Amino acid sequence: KADSVQVFITCPNTLKAGSNGLLTNIVPIAGNKLRYEWKSNYPINYYLPSFSVSDYQEYNIYAHPAGITDSILIQNYLYSNSGYLPYFKAEIDNTPLFIELLSEKYGMYPFKNEKYGHCVAPIGGGMEHQTMTTLSSFNFELIIHELGHQWFGDNVTCANWQDIWLNEGFATYTYYIGLQNLQTQANADQEMLNEHNDIKSATNGSVYVPLSQIFDENRIFDYRLTYEKGAAIIHSMRFILNNDSLFYSVLQNFQQTYKDSVATGDDFKNMISSMSGIDFTDYFAQWYYGEGYPTYNIVWQQQSDTVSFTVNQQTSMPSITPFFKLPVEIKFFWSGGDTTLRFAQAYNQQQFSAYIPHLINNLQVDPNNWVVDGIANITTGISVNSILQSVIVKPNPAKDFIVLNVNFKTSENDFIIYDISGKNVKTFKMNADVLKIDISDLENGMYFINCINNNNILPAKFIVNK
Ligand SMILES: [Zn+2]
Repeated sequence: KADSVQVFITCPNTLKAGSNGLLTNIVPIAGNKLRYEWKSNYPINYYLPSFSVSDYQEYNIYAHPAGITDSILIQNYLYSNSGYLPYFKAEIDNTPLFIELLSEKYGMYPFKNEKYGHCVAPIGGGMEHQTMTTLSSFNFELIIHELGHQWFGDNVTCANWQDIWLNEGFATYTYYIGLQNLQTQANADQEMLNEHNDIKSATNGSVYVPLSQIFDENRIFDYRLTYEKGAAIIHSMRFILNNDSLFYSVLQNFQQTYKDSVATGDDFKNMISSMSGIDFTDYFAQWYYGEGYPTYNIVWQQQSDTVSFTVNQQTSMPSITPFFKLPVEIKFFWSGGDTTLRFAQAYNQQQFSAYIPHLINNLQVDPNNWVVDGIANITTGISVNSILQSVIVKPNPAKDFIVLNVNFKTSENDFIIYDISGKNVKTFKMNADVLKIDISDLENGMYFINCINNNNILPAKFIVNK
């Protein structure tokens, strides 16, 4: 980056010129001209200096982010016709709220010692010029998107165009954060749903721009992949963290670590992995470098207060990304209520059990739409009760051993014991009616046993209490 920038523009004295940083001087020049002298002392990437000139009217407002006593100037150079400001004033007046919100979520506005601003110009959409966005009109989404770029794009810039996600994915997700915090969760949900539907309008494509397409501007700025899928994979990382204060700490630390500099997608992967203790290597291989999305297939059944089910997924680009390893939320409905639980799927045909003391009548996969996924196929397995098979566990609660008693004659059956988080803690085979199992190594808690018998799952559970 350049360590600073100065832009001097000489124009007729009937016009105004806007640019980066602070307007330090307006110098009269012979011939009814003025020289506008703009200077910024912040490092700046080579594509972010700009200027625009018109017979602007100037409309100044101020933001007051928490944590600083000074206010931040928001300098707006607007078209001069008398109807312009009244038409857009309510939208422009949201800008201080946006700066205050993003300063709280991403860390202090990066250019607080200078200003933020808007120059209106007849361009398509907007362009996040550092400290002085250029745009053609004002609305919630456009204002907060370009403002989000002041952090993601300007303060921290993608190190190369392959990692344009760091600019556009985060600016797009900034709109979601704005809706969630300043409008309603329902509006934010609708926005994410729209993005997911758009992403799924095609089966393929990675967020990361392949080297072979690096000179294709339309691929770099592909709206579906770079913007929408880029935002969606940030949202899913937030889901995996399952801890919003940690999520925003990662964003703030990323901003601090790479401020006035550049970063790659792998830099973000490494930071979120080290701060969370969760390895995001597979996640990036599947969602950032990989292609497509999963569609879940669930087969479930209930015996008494235990619901057991098998989770399988097909992917839309199996030759490139055959499996997405990530948690999945499942919502269990009963007459008059429901509960949503999270399960960490690590492989296909994985079996889980859940303690739910209600008669379940339906399941829903990913009810909060955290993940880009297809419409799940949900089917009920053969009723265990109808074939009068069962697995009996004694003693219960148990200390050092359990005795399993099955009332069906089969060839060898596979048994798996899970803890309450779905982690497989013991696997064994049983080819007799009764088997004693050593459980002296298990901690106190509730455990589930699944017996896999002719593609049915026969569930049981027990408690360890030492
Ligand atoms: Zn953008």
